Amino acid sequence: MDERVEHWISENQLFENGLSDIKLSLRVKKHLYSKRSDYQQVEIFDTWGYGRVLQLDGVMQTTEKDEFVYHEMITHVPLLTHPAPKKHLVIGGGDGGASREALKHPLDISYLVDIDEDVVSSSKQYLSKIGSEFENPRLKVNCTDGIQFMRDRKKEFDVISVDSTDPIGPAVGLFSKEFYQDVFNALTDDGIMACQSESPFYYPNFIHDLHIKLGEIFPVVRLYTAVIPTYPGAYWSWTLASKKHDPLDLPLAELQQRMARRKINGLKWFSPEIYKSSFILPPFVQQLLPKKK
Ligand code: SAM
Repeated sequence: MDERVEHWISENQLFENGLSDIKLSLRVKKHLYSKRSDYQQVEIFDTWGYGRVLQLDGVMQTTEKDEFVYHEMITHVPLLTHPAPKKHLVIGGGDGGASREALKHPLDISYLVDIDEDVVSSSKQYLSKIGSEFENPRLKVNCTDGIQFMRDRKKEFDVISVDSTDPIGPAVGLFSKEFYQDVFNALTDDGIMACQSESPFYYPNFIHDLHIKLGEIFPVVRLYTAVIPTYPGAYWSWTLASKKHDPLDLPLAELQQRMARRKINGLKWFSPEIYKSSFILPPFVQQLLPKKK
């Protein structure tokens, strides 16, 4: 008989119309942290099935067991599409997982700009397996609004990873056309951005509209996907927008050489083959994207 205490947390997994008919529940070992920050309710739990998890306003952000998929895909895909990135920026990502992966590249510097200091400090304290590079001298953390931070920047970053919460609350502006124009201006002449773009099962119209929005600013826009068990729909997407380099034109051999030159190994989801396959989309996802003119 299972004698563990019956303490479960449940997330109402929201569709893009704000409704929910599905819950994800995890059995809790211990409630580690709870605080109403200036922006959101921050909770950290230790769970039996997925290790430590971060929830913001009741929405699952990351878990120790499956975080590597998300963090490897939001960083290595754009960073390896770029031939020699030196300056990188994460907008959001206060748990530190995206920065940890980015710092595996020989960057001069990687910035982390999260609006919520409480996410950063509680992650440092309780999620050190995820945010394991906070003390790295090449990481500069700035707790401020990513929208403000991005205004009026000119050709500063080679790669930007937008690791935001869902498009509600303080993150709404991180999905606006104005913000993407600021991102475009902040990127160097061959700069690349990747942002999380929700699940094709749950946010089909959002993915379509985002593709159009980015296509009005960037010459190259590509959707790529992977599997993350604790995210709504389990099948997740990111959108890459680039000024010059197109991931579809990058040969596998060059990708392998870039990884070898940068001495990146020991990853758990990403590989050169996964990079190539992640841009191959099933028909129902291809149909979400605007038709090519
Ligand atoms: N991997 C996660 C997901 O897709 O669910 C995202 C994780 S990360 C914790 C998201 C972060 O975005 C949060 O820490 C939140 O504080 C931050 N965020 C939301 N709005 C922001 C804004 N306007 N500027 C900077 N950071 C923001």
